[in-house]
Amino acid sequence: MAEVLNMQNISKSYYMGEEELEVLSKVNLTVNSGEFLSLLGPSGSGKSTMMNIIGCLDMPTSGKYLLSGNDIEDLDETELAFIRNKEIGFVFQSFQLLPRLSALQNVELPLIYAGVSSAERKERSLNMLDRVGLVDKTKNLPTQLSGGQQQRVAIARALVTEPTILLADEPTGALDQKTGAQVMELFEELNHDGRTIIMITHDIGIARHAKRVVNILDGHLSEQEVQ
Ligand code: ADP
Ligand code: MG
Repeated sequence: MAEVLNMQNISKSYYMGEEELEVLSKVNLTVNSGEFLSLLGPSGSGKSTMMNIIGCLDMPTSGKYLLSGNDIEDLDETELAFIRNKEIGFVFQSFQLLPRLSALQNVELPLIYAGVSSAERKERSLNMLDRVGLVDKTKNLPTQLSGGQQQRVAIARALVTEPTILLADEPTGALDQKTGAQVMELFEELNHDGRTIIMITHDIGIARHAKRVVNILDGHLSEQEVQ
């Protein structure tokens, strides 16, 4: 199976004046195409730092990171932005939809940036909204959608460009338990269709929806056996 992510001895420190805070300590992680992995850890364990590095929003202090075979260290800012857009679809706890745009327009946005023609944009976006169960809400503004529906729009937007990895940081953090479980069912379906998903969470019940759980504690990773 194709390796989409390979981290070797990744460390990350933040510096405040003289003081060094090592947040990730020689992390090794390999993810293959088609996996559904969750990264589970308490607040302050380094999850968002991992997310930022996986998503090429921040660089490690040391170590090697290959994203779909691209050595991140070799890339300049422009190449990094290109790889990020191509490889990663981001989903956040707070949905981050643009409030004045409809569901359809929100999903179309990444395709506008990618220079896709208007007709194809609309078709692909409607297909994705259909996939997440929202084909009857395409004209709704975010405020006219429930939290769970807003997160579905955000998921459609993240996937409309067909990225290699869906990268989600606490995707159910702003949702009640039932709605969160429904979003997890959607993730399971998407993974069943072949999507590679990396999900970050502090919630063990949410993490267990993934096929593979990796614990993070004080910047160290350890695999968890899943039944
Ligand atoms: P989590 O997402 O698991 O809560 P983070 O990755 O956000 O953890 O943070 C891990 C540690 O790194 C925390 O102690 C946090 O205070 C620290 N930290 C995060 N970002 C920065 C930063 N930009 N500068 C300094 N310290 C940071
Ligand atoms: Mg965090």
